[in-house]
Amino acid sequence: MKKKQFVSLILCLLSQVSFAQFENGSLESKNVLIVYGGWKGHQPKVFADKIGSWLEQQNANVTLSSSTAIYLDEKIMSNTDLIIQHITMSTIKAEESKALQKVVSRGVGLAGCHGGLGDAFRDDTEYQYMIGGQFVKHPGGQLDYTVNMTTTENVITKGIKDFSLHSEQYYLHIDPAINVLATTVFNGDNDSWIEGIKMPVVWTKIYGKGRVFYSSLGHSADVFEIPEVWQLMTRGVAWATKSKIQ
Ligand SMILES: [Zn+2]
Repeated sequence: MKKKQFVSLILCLLSQVSFAQFENGSLESKNVLIVYGGWKGHQPKVFADKIGSWLEQQNANVTLSSSTAIYLDEKIMSNTDLIIQHITMSTIKAEESKALQKVVSRGVGLAGCHGGLGDAFRDDTEYQYMIGGQFVKHPGGQLDYTVNMTTTENVITKGIKDFSLHSEQYYLHIDPAINVLATTVFNGDNDSWIEGIKMPVVWTKIYGKGRVFYSSLGHSADVFEIPEVWQLMTRGVAWATKSKIQ
């Protein structure tokens, strides 16, 4: 084997090792707070239990809460590496929202999906400023659509191919500061004036020193049975947990 080929082989193996560690070991001993609630149609407890049991399989320490009042608990918040929130609509007290924004800006990760992160607290614009987008409509309700990866080089999307699903296709008001990892295109069947519009589906964002991950996929539990959807979600969670930028 020539020297150049040998070096390429070693580099290739090293990249696979570090990627495997990212997938399998990065959540060990991390403290994850899952806060759920809001509109029951999105089955917040079902999602919280599903992601919670997956995190426990990764040897993370999981705390579940059904109240945003936990954001005011300084002891818990100071020991938290990542917050996963799944609260559709509902409301949050101003001091709770401020406490959440404070810890994320100081480096606690924040992750979530669908309405649980992207349609929470509709009257709280500072919260929306942190998330990077706000749901406004899913034209046509449940329909068939495709999710297109914008990059396969990112640790979250690596190796994932474009895929199709039958669910709500979220139309969101978007913050230009987000890093878009996947998109979908509206065909205009329901609202003709949005034909061809490319909409972010999965993104990351930096808020202060914190990492924010969002996926608009996840209307119902069956959506997470699609391997690509679950892979994007869990990789996004692992990415956001590596917050606290040095
Ligand atoms: Zn929904």
